[in-house]
Amino acid sequence: MRIVTLVLVITALSPWLGLPVHKASVNTSPAQAVESGPVTADIDDSDLFLQKTIQAAGPQRDDSQRIEALLKRMTLEEKVGQMTQLAIGMIAKGRDQEIQIDPAKLDKAIVHYGVGSILNVAEQALTPDKWHDIIKQIQEAATKKTRLGIPVIYGIDSIHGANYVQGATLFPQEIGMAATWNPGLMKRGSEIAAMETRAAGIPWSFSPVLDIGRQPQWPRFYETFGEDPYLAKVMGAAFVRGLEGTDVSSQDHVAASLKHYMGYSLPLSGRDRTPAWIPENYLREYFLPTFAAAVKAGAHTVMVNSAEINGIPGHINHHILTDILRDELGFKGFVVSDWEDIKKLVTVWHVAANEKAATRMAVMAGIDMSMVPLDYSFADYLIALVKEGAVPQSRIDEAVRRILKVKFELGLFENPMPNAALKSKIGLPESRQASLQAARESMTLLKNTGDRLPLAKDRKILVTGPTADSLISLNNGWTYVWQGSEESLYPKDRPTIRRAIEAKAGAANVTYVPGTKITRRAGSPSNNTPTNMEEEVDIPAAVRAAGAADVIVLCLGEGSYTETPGNIPDLTLGEPQRKLAEAIETTGKPVVLVLVEGRPRIINRIADYASAVLMAYNPGNEGGQAVADVLFGDFNPCGKLPFTYPRFPNALMTYDHKAFETESFDSAGIRPQFEFGDGLSYTRFSYRDLRLNRKTIGASDQLSISITVTNSGRRAGQEVVQLYVSDLVASLSPAGKRLKRFAKIYLEPEKSRTLTFKLRPDDLSFIGADNKPVVEPGEFEVMIAGLKARFELK
Ligand code: BGC
Repeated sequence: MRIVTLVLVITALSPWLGLPVHKASVNTSPAQAVESGPVTADIDDSDLFLQKTIQAAGPQRDDSQRIEALLKRMTLEEKVGQMTQLAIGMIAKGRDQEIQIDPAKLDKAIVHYGVGSILNVAEQALTPDKWHDIIKQIQEAATKKTRLGIPVIYGIDSIHGANYVQGATLFPQEIGMAATWNPGLMKRGSEIAAMETRAAGIPWSFSPVLDIGRQPQWPRFYETFGEDPYLAKVMGAAFVRGLEGTDVSSQDHVAASLKHYMGYSLPLSGRDRTPAWIPENYLREYFLPTFAAAVKAGAHTVMVNSAEINGIPGHINHHILTDILRDELGFKGFVVSDWEDIKKLVTVWHVAANEKAATRMAVMAGIDMSMVPLDYSFADYLIALVKEGAVPQSRIDEAVRRILKVKFELGLFENPMPNAALKSKIGLPESRQASLQAARESMTLLKNTGDRLPLAKDRKILVTGPTADSLISLNNGWTYVWQGSEESLYPKDRPTIRRAIEAKAGAANVTYVPGTKITRRAGSPSNNTPTNMEEEVDIPAAVRAAGAADVIVLCLGEGSYTETPGNIPDLTLGEPQRKLAEAIETTGKPVVLVLVEGRPRIINRIADYASAVLMAYNPGNEGGQAVADVLFGDFNPCGKLPFTYPRFPNALMTYDHKAFETESFDSAGIRPQFEFGDGLSYTRFSYRDLRLNRKTIGASDQLSISITVTNSGRRAGQEVVQLYVSDLVASLSPAGKRLKRFAKIYLEPEKSRTLTFKLRPDDLSFIGADNKPVVEPGEFEVMIAGLKARFELK
């Protein structure tokens, strides 16, 4: 066996240097080859990737003279107009694709009120032509009919691709992208999202979501990169770099909006937009790092936490919005509110007696632009507040300066109009290929007893379950419509899991019986009612069909949802699905469980019974293909779980729980179903020779940690090498372990590779009781795949 020792630095930089790297499509034999995926990095030391990503932000251009000159000429009304963002319905009429700009409404918004920003779709994704028509009319009004000709900044939720542009490429949701542990692929995905968003004439995306998914019941869990702040920080910075590029004014890029700043994702109740209690040191330890890194990466805007922490609604939290974001992180872009959140200070949070008071509180806390978005109240109140002296003119100037700066940097003053030539960039085959690659790399094989997978293509297969034949489940929310729920808008040429299995195994070998279905409750989503309903369809038919099958592919999970309509009272999988699984169990046939879901629904008994469990998350439109590629071994799975999969609804925890908790978890029998970082391959990786270059390090030293990984199985494959550190004694009770570095490598059978990671003392810091980072001397333990070594920090 040949041992290849590589200098990690060079290899990790190869994609940046334009050096060739291997193709990431991993096949077991030439006969099974599928078309190869796009080139992705085979080794990306997460730290090097992050540093490079941040550095690529480059120096910002200086438009200050133009901004000041413009500001001098602006009236108070024009300034407040710039701070106002309205929904598209405020300037348009008609439904669905029939939507049209209403000239009178447009005039009122853009010419009379001087509104600086418009957002989103009224109902559904629009064609690129429609977008061009709409944006053109808005920009014509803004640049030709107003006194100063300031262009509008249009903003949209491009959450997993340009999901509000028809024909755009849709990627796995963020939780699936996190499971790839491949920031290069994340960057590629957001480059495509940016290109396709800009091609529609839209220069600003409300993404990435940088909230940390530590509350699995939360209906926006799938919009996060999972529970770990380090993994989320690396992926989040990659997302920003992909969106913004190194020159955000270029026709392929858009401004990012980091959201939802901050602490939105940890509601105690698990319901969207409900209170969280997070002490500041934990806020800084777990929820700030993603935002801090993305600000360093040069992100242009930030969107605010719609809920509250510690009794303080996000939109009036001066400490978070100004002290931390501006003074500490040095953020120079503008801050936009979330949907109607100034009004909600009155109607939901009861911290202001009326909207005028709420407007003053929010603007003084640091809100630069209000997503009002359905009336002109914000502008009217703010003008009155300034005239009364309740809001200083200087605060208005500060906000407008920031907004103008972003508009200049986006090149909107030079190029406000959509560029017709860009439309051809939407939905390119190579973009779809990148999405397929991301979906494949996200697939996480969590169990494979007796090598049940991969499946042979000549067996009789029963495909059952409510997510087996559903593009809606594969995509989840933010897909063509807000809730992702409009079947008719999905492309007809993308296979569901069922269809992709049929294509591989031959329709004659595959029987499909849904067993149960997930439907939507009619009417508008109310706060307390989950919108997805589950129903039995034909469980006995599924059982009958199982009799003739060699293996059953049981596809369970969820429908589509986001925000409040996705609230659920119980993390347990719905009863009809459990009944289906139990009925299938009685047949005694081997079961391969495929989970298509945006959060870990409790599946304990089903997972324990199944021979194999494949977590697919919400892999997007190429997800059906990706699932089938893994089931039949045409792609060797390499995804790793980016969260802890609970076994019981009342046993939620994260992998980085306190060191002492493990024992009590064990004795209470509440071990997780699957652990953070878990994920099997069709080959085997073995680890040896964990070595530290020194046993003791000083405050200015680096620690080098090397490990040799061998592919000791018979197939080529990718492995994510994960490095954890335990702080053995600390002044605040330490976590049992924390992820500090990772690298995704590719190895042919029998090949080995030695990786070297470097840790700096500040990687060993934590936020102390005084809310400041502290590096405490003492003993630490490094862990990679069960191997451990100790060192001391002097
Ligand atoms: C969501 C944001 C989104 C905004 C605009 C809000 O309800 O919380 O994430 O960007 O709507 O669609």
